[in-house]
Formats: sequence, structure tokens, C-alpha cells
Amino acid sequence: MSDFLPPLTSRDLREWLTGWQMAGVTQLPEAELPEMELPTEQAAPVYQKAPIVLNTDSQNEPELLISTPTDVPHDSSPTPEMIMPPANQKAALSRLAKKVAECTRCQELATTRTQTVFGVGDPNAKIMFIGEAPGADEDAQGEPFVGRAGKLLTKIIEACDMQREEIYICNILRCRPPGNRNPSPEEASHCREYLDKQIKIVNPEYIVCWGSVAAKNLLDTETPIGKMRGELYEYAGAKVLCTYHPSYLLRNPPAKKFVWEDMQLLFADMGITLKS
Ligand code: SF4
Repeated sequence: MSDFLPPLTSRDLREWLTGWQMAGVTQLPEAELPEMELPTEQAAPVYQKAPIVLNTDSQNEPELLISTPTDVPHDSSPTPEMIMPPANQKAALSRLAKKVAECTRCQELATTRTQTVFGVGDPNAKIMFIGEAPGADEDAQGEPFVGRAGKLLTKIIEACDMQREEIYICNILRCRPPGNRNPSPEEASHCREYLDKQIKIVNPEYIVCWGSVAAKNLLDTETPIGKMRGELYEYAGAKVLCTYHPSYLLRNPPAKKFVWEDMQLLFADMGITLKS
């Protein structure tokens, strides 16, 4: 059909076919379809469940399956298309850290912080840990997870037969919110570019979100941490585990067994069996 003819309405078509029918035509020849460009396959959402469910907490089991694709991915999520040679990762992180040290996007945090808390650990780590935001100790020392909760985190790492230095550790925010309050959505959004760049540079195979603030912000979900844990998700090519924050474990020691189950799940996925 020529481009300049107006498109047929369904009524036009009905009348046209009725005319042919009245003229005794009962069958029309098959039209030759022009070659059409097929739509390309849609990219899979960056945040989706990894095809692994290994949950030992039968209490949570039915609820753990409620995550759906309506848990939308964060718009600015990085893609793992840019894999950096290991030699460049350290330099790239150091350049980014310098930029972060001068950042004043969150006016309140930039004026109250002692220093920015960028991240530490192996720039080529297989596992990345993400916490929520620096506390008083982290703000003073410029390193994430160094207070009481940090010491507990180190114990968890060592119980997994790893050293802290083998892991890359950072936070959702790089500045301490006054009074250790939770990061506001605006602050998390301001700092997201830096987090996504760190993920892109380190390119970890696994990410652990420690606590609900980390899980909620990384995966853009409102699902409580108790329902997120015990399962692997996916973000930017990495498998993501969400579990309780060490500071929650300090207040609620019985929850340590759930974190240990989560560590067992994480390492089982790597082919490593942790002792019970
Ligand atoms: S929290 Fe992040 S975005 Fe906000 S001022 Fe600090 S470095 Fe900048």
C-alpha cells in the first residue's frame, strides 16, 4: 500500500470485503508480506533474582518468593560491559576517591563530616560488601566498618576463612549523616553515582548488602531485609545477597544464625562449603 493513501478503517475494510463477497468472490489470494524488521530482544532487567534459591529458614520460605520484576531496577545502574584490567582498577578507584573527597552534593553532610569514607579493600575483589553510611568511628578514621559493628564484620569474614583485605568494602553514602540517622533518599541518590562507579571498577562477582538501608537502596526495593535474606539476587552482573547489618546483630545476637546461613548460601554458590 502506498504511503500517501489514508489508512483503512475497520468499517472501510468491512464494506470493501462485503463488495467482493456480493461479486461472488469467496477467497482472496494471500498477500505477500513485506520484509519486516523484528524488534530486538529486550535487555533483561539489571535487578532480578539469580536462578538460585537455597533457604534453610522455613519460616521465611513462602515470603521469599514474592519478589517480582515490579521491583524495578535503579535507572543509573552500571552494566558490566566495561571490564577494567586489574592494574587500572586501583588507579581508577584512587581518582574517584579524590573526586569524592571534594564532593559537596549533600550540603549538610559535606559541612558536618570529618572526612569522606570512600571504601577499602582489594580493588579486584570477588566479593564487595555494601553497608549503609559511615558512623562516628568511620567518620573519624576514614574507613568503613571500623567500630564495634566493623569488628563483628571482621569476625564474620574470618569465620568464612577469608581476610578483610580480600574483600572490597564501601557504603551507600560516603559521608556520615549527623547523629547516625539513616541516609535520606536524596542523599542516597546523590551518592549513587560513586557507588555505581565503584561497582563498575571492582566488577565483583558477589555483592553483600549489610542491612536494610543497603539492600533497599541498591536493589530499589521496599521488601524488608528479613524477607530479602536467604536468596541471591542480581545487580550489574553480580549476584547479590542481602543480610542483617552487624550492628543489628550486636543488639540481637540470636539473628547471627541467619547471617551465618546467608554466608553459607553465598559460599555454597562459589562451590565452598562453610562449616556449620
Ligand atoms: S554523601 Fe556522597 S554525594 Fe553526599 S556529599 Fe558525601 S560524597 Fe557527596
